Amino acid sequence: MSDDGKNRWRSRTRAVRAGLDRSPHGETSEALFLNSGFVYDTAEQAEARFLGDDEGFIYSRYGNPTVAMFEERLAQLDGSEACFATASGMAAVFAALLCQLQSGDHVVASRALFGSCHYILTQLLPRYGIEVDLVDGADLSQWQDKIKDGTKVVFFETPSNPTLDLIDLKAVIDLAHDVDARVVVDNVFSTPILQRPADYGADVVVYSGTKHMDGQGRILGGAVLSSQAFITDHLMNFMRHTGPAMSAFNAWILLKGLETMELRLAEQCRNAQTIAEMLEAQDAVERVLYPGLKSFPQYALAQAQMTAGGSVITFDLRGGKDEAFRFLNGLQIVDISNNLGDAKSLITHPATTTHRAVGPEERAKVGIGDGMVRLSVGLEDPEDLMEDLGAALNRINDVI
Ligand SMILES: *Cc1c(COP(=O)(O)O)cnc(C)c1O
Repeated sequence: MSDDGKNRWRSRTRAVRAGLDRSPHGETSEALFLNSGFVYDTAEQAEARFLGDDEGFIYSRYGNPTVAMFEERLAQLDGSEACFATASGMAAVFAALLCQLQSGDHVVASRALFGSCHYILTQLLPRYGIEVDLVDGADLSQWQDKIKDGTKVVFFETPSNPTLDLIDLKAVIDLAHDVDARVVVDNVFSTPILQRPADYGADVVVYSGTKHMDGQGRILGGAVLSSQAFITDHLMNFMRHTGPAMSAFNAWILLKGLETMELRLAEQCRNAQTIAEMLEAQDAVERVLYPGLKSFPQYALAQAQMTAGGSVITFDLRGGKDEAFRFLNGLQIVDISNNLGDAKSLITHPATTTHRAVGPEERAKVGIGDGMVRLSVGLEDPEDLMEDLGAALNRINDVI
């Protein structure tokens, strides 16, 4: 970001060109550096590099030229100063939390979380003497109650998985900053295209590259974004010495994925909006949760902090698990899969898959019923998708 001209680039230009670091061969596309180690001209240069006095790569667990291009591109899209890429989204969440927490610390998090994030917060952190309070993220008074002097970290995702609850970025970040707590936002569902938590003052933003960034179901990846100071003071040594580094190949896929992410996501959001409106009119559907619908309980907040409703729709079918399974098994185009953000439309039954492990009590608290399904809308023709969904819904109409 040293070049003033590049600082003024708009997001589409950044998506295609930010971070590009061509080798002396002048390749058009970003080069894939499939090497683990690096060589030095002299022993003195090796010494200087380990001292941090000589810029350059040391070992691909620390950094790699292809990964560095991805990190720079994503940092510029996210509006954050710096980025450290990780092997998966969960490696990013884990590192972002553990690199700064220690025994005796207090964390406040929203209750509606991705299943594995829920596991880290409720199972792993307490094991190391870190106290965690969960709140209903949409209820500001609960954040107010739990965020207190000494709270170290506030963690949430918005929209949440799978109920799509929104959290008021500005309000919660301000509450956290009043007591000098750091805010870590899992921005996977939104991507930097729909919302940029760093613009609201979030201290750390985490992503799963596996979802919309790749967008074509190929690889796992993740990233932690923050100030350079946070990376230097907290994250860098944690990452270097625990080893969840992103592979160069995955970074290369993600560099290409970022080039088209805005275009893909815009189309997926358009499809999702159309499909959400269609689902609302179906007898077999009890309730549709989609931030772009006027009926969405937090529609005003969605309009204020997101540029579109996203690519995921969650809906409750009339009936329970049997009806939901009957519906899923009746789909011909939409695949049953727990991934999301893909070009292919995917659907899952959270209560028996992604949120099975959180248990029935916690599922009830966040509103995940047995008739709930989560649809990730892809890039197929929306007419074909609506025909497919309609036909499968008819299988429920037959039994209710
Ligand atoms: C998928 C996901 C993750 C984890 O990402 P992986 O790349 O699968 O490890 C974290 N948070 C949210 C909200 C997700 O959807």
